[in-house]
Amino acid sequence: AKASGRNAIRWFAPRMLAENNDRLALSAALRQALDQDELSLVYQPQVDLATGEVVGVEALARWTSPSLGSVPPDRFIPVAEDGGMIAQLGDWVLSTACTALARVQEQLGRPLRLAVNVSPRQLRGRAWLEEIAAAIETAGIEPSQLEVEITEGLLIEDHGDVVAMLESLRSLGVTIVVDDFGRGYSSLAYLTRFPIDKIKIDRSFVQEISTAENAAIVDAIIVMAHALDMTVVAEGVETAAQERYLLDRGCDEVQGYLYSPGVPAGSLEMVTRALSRQ
Ligand code: C2E
Ligand code: CA
Ligand code: CA
Ligand code: CA
Repeated sequence: AKASGRNAIRWFAPRMLAENNDRLALSAALRQALDQDELSLVYQPQVDLATGEVVGVEALARWTSPSLGSVPPDRFIPVAEDGGMIAQLGDWVLSTACTALARVQEQLGRPLRLAVNVSPRQLRGRAWLEEIAAAIETAGIEPSQLEVEITEGLLIEDHGDVVAMLESLRSLGVTIVVDDFGRGYSSLAYLTRFPIDKIKIDRSFVQEISTAENAAIVDAIIVMAHALDMTVVAEGVETAAQERYLLDRGCDEVQGYLYSPGVPAGSLEMVTRALSRQ
């Protein structure tokens, strides 16, 4: 046992070291990226299933680093969280996206909603609420157009503070969405304890919707959300069969490659018009 323990150390230590270096390098590069305009946003349309109209967009962060190439958000968001950069990144996302939305809806001649992803760690403190109010005001959009997507984890981890924060956010008129619903956490009680307006069904259920088990989960989420007076959106919709199923079950909104991937702000008017015509 001792020998294999030593082997294990020899085996793992260099790898851990490499991962650590990797993360440090990533962290340093990201810090620089935030100051040097290497980050951008794409916007993925959200479609009203009943009417086929584009009703909103979700802002998704992108990073192309001159030295590291394109780094996916699943990699750099955790680095920003651990490195104390998430507040700066989050504020940048918010103000950039609100400004882009104002512009696109002017081109379209009609309002759209904007969903932004918010890390649990961004929610700490009043400064963030003020930042949201300021971004909305500066861009000249309505608070009711903004949706904040949070993950279930946040609702499990924290209590008093989070409820108070979400309540204030909601009293501004902002919509609270639970992202990745159904993934990883089993307590449903928080749905009534927290001020939640909308549930986003995790794409893992949508993508396996043709299996009886996943279909049952999707059905249950839709029924439950509606019983609680919440809107339901399904993410990761890729096929007409998935769309058909969700439509039959009364899902309110959809988002996924079947409609469009995230696109730069400059393409959003065209993409939105094309989708709404279909
Ligand atoms: P998410 O919020 O669940 O975003 C949905 C992800 O699914 C996006 O990946 C999107 O590009 C991808 N997607 C959309 N439609 C489809 C589809 O039909 N099929 C498949 N397979 N995937 C689809 P992306 O852009 O790589 O973002 C990954 C995650 O990174 C996001 O997951 C979100 O948790 C996080 N993220 C992205 N931007 C931000 C941000 O500005 N702030 C924070 N805090 N997190 C962000
Ligand atoms: Ca999201
Ligand atoms: Ca999601
Ligand atoms: Ca996610």
